[in-house]
Amino acid sequence: MYRSHNCGELRATHSNIEVTLAGWVQGVRDKGFMIYVDLRDRYGITQLYFDEDQSAKALMETAQKLGREFVIQVKGKVQERTSKNPNIPTGDVEILVSELNVLNGSKTPPFTIEDETDGGDDLRMKYRYLDIRRNPVKNSLVFRHKVAQAVRNYLSNDGFIEVETPYLIKSTPEGARDFVVPSRMNEGQFYALPQSPQTFKQLLMVGGMDKYFQIVKCFRDEDLRADRQPEFTQIDCEMAFVEQEDILNTFEGLTRHLLKEINGVDVDKFPRMLYDDAMRLYGNDKPDIRFGMEFGELNDVAKHKDFNVFNSAELVVGIAVPGGNSYTRKEIDKLIDWVKRPQVGALGMVYCRCNEDGTFKSSVDKFYDQDDLAKWAEVTGAKAGDLICVLSGNTNKVRAQLSALRMELAERLGLRKSDEFAPLWVMDFPLLEWDEDTERYHAMHHPFTSPKPGQLELLDSKPGEVKANAYDLVLNGNEIGGGSIRIHDKATQAIMLKHLGFSEEEARAQFGFLMDAFEYGAPPHGGIAFGLDRLVAILGGQETIRDFIAFPKNNSGRDVMIDAPAPIDDEQLQELNLKLNLKS
Ligand code: ASP
Repeated sequence: MYRSHNCGELRATHSNIEVTLAGWVQGVRDKGFMIYVDLRDRYGITQLYFDEDQSAKALMETAQKLGREFVIQVKGKVQERTSKNPNIPTGDVEILVSELNVLNGSKTPPFTIEDETDGGDDLRMKYRYLDIRRNPVKNSLVFRHKVAQAVRNYLSNDGFIEVETPYLIKSTPEGARDFVVPSRMNEGQFYALPQSPQTFKQLLMVGGMDKYFQIVKCFRDEDLRADRQPEFTQIDCEMAFVEQEDILNTFEGLTRHLLKEINGVDVDKFPRMLYDDAMRLYGNDKPDIRFGMEFGELNDVAKHKDFNVFNSAELVVGIAVPGGNSYTRKEIDKLIDWVKRPQVGALGMVYCRCNEDGTFKSSVDKFYDQDDLAKWAEVTGAKAGDLICVLSGNTNKVRAQLSALRMELAERLGLRKSDEFAPLWVMDFPLLEWDEDTERYHAMHHPFTSPKPGQLELLDSKPGEVKANAYDLVLNGNEIGGGSIRIHDKATQAIMLKHLGFSEEEARAQFGFLMDAFEYGAPPHGGIAFGLDRLVAILGGQETIRDFIAFPKNNSGRDVMIDAPAPIDDEQLQELNLKLNLKS
């Protein structure tokens, strides 16, 4: 038996019993005639004690040679400490060691294995197995497990069954590129790794499985954005014989259960907002509604006043920054620089101070009098003491810019509290989205999403206006889940694919299997998928997902520990019938 107890469980009530512990050496304090060693495992830290009077000489000598992260096993007696450490649960006791076995030595770790480490990101990733020994990472992984477990329990209790779907498949379009896997046995042919199990879960509905879920890896070869992982985990769900309302209720139930179970937070019925309203009021389809600062559209009150910047803009829109009138001129200039950064891209910013005495002072006083500015304040909801920030330009762009400013200011004002949870359903997304690069419509969600009833006819005349039976679940400004009611008949699916620019042959080649299945009694169905990594991070009060993933990739999609991706040797290339055509 390697251990009788773990390093987190001994208390004063265990005094005088013989125990065996095993773990890593956190640190050694050698006082000559007595030696203290902190022994660590997953469960905690226990102090080991050696002393000249009570311990054999050889034992003292071995203890003296211990280094950080050595793996050891000790036998000894639990005794109450003379000076207790109230900061750790085992702080009342220590082990008077009678036997010490060094199970394995350790090189000096490249960074300190402490809650606050001196290791930078790259180093921590390269030695991730050491990083995982640190409490913050270890606790995040335990936390993730708890969330996943709560999800499984809740859905299983509700009659869902977890079904595994294959990883070696053909492309499932979710808007990213596929990772492909060459097939050795089928020369010149490739599998794609699933961007999601979308088509398979729909086929499970045709197969009568009726309530499916799966905690599943998905793979998307996207240009990497900060805090995105090329492989990530979804809680993927699908139900048959349901309407949108059923899906919303079921997964609102799941989310409410998680908030209660994991965070001890009770949340009322989740508010719902139309996509169009989210864009109008927050400039964003995943608004953070923990705080106000809603957009006020100023076209009616700010145009036609000789100020050409506004007159030529498609949209003039502002927000009231609470207490913002206290900003100095310098601070406001900095804010203007902030919105002009390429990442935000505004050309400039107009502002208006709302003075305590009810007067206004704007950066465009030449064009607007006090009455005009009072209207700005009314539309943006600004009160005395606030600052109104106004951007103008192309509607989509300016909304995105002001949304970025809103989030930045809320962050600075401490309005994004991590212990506050504000879920929100955003509904009725557009079915199609215009893509500037390819100059074509794309499915905003995916091609299997059904249009709202009665809107199919609009596809020809006003494709951009067709709304989808699609919904997102937003939590604190993050999209944590998204789904839709699906098309479940072949004719509609064919029309949809045609509008997405697929020829009949292409549609057949890519999605023939699904369209065929629709001809064998496909039930009405719909579903949703949650991003587990992000959900866990938000429930854990953090916004970066990386520490909730055991072995994440870095921002260039690399695993720096195992050094992947990596070239493969010629023999393997040949077997796969691949020829490299490298430019350099
Ligand atoms: N497959 C979708 C996605 O990954 C989710 C869904 O529609 O259920 O976003």
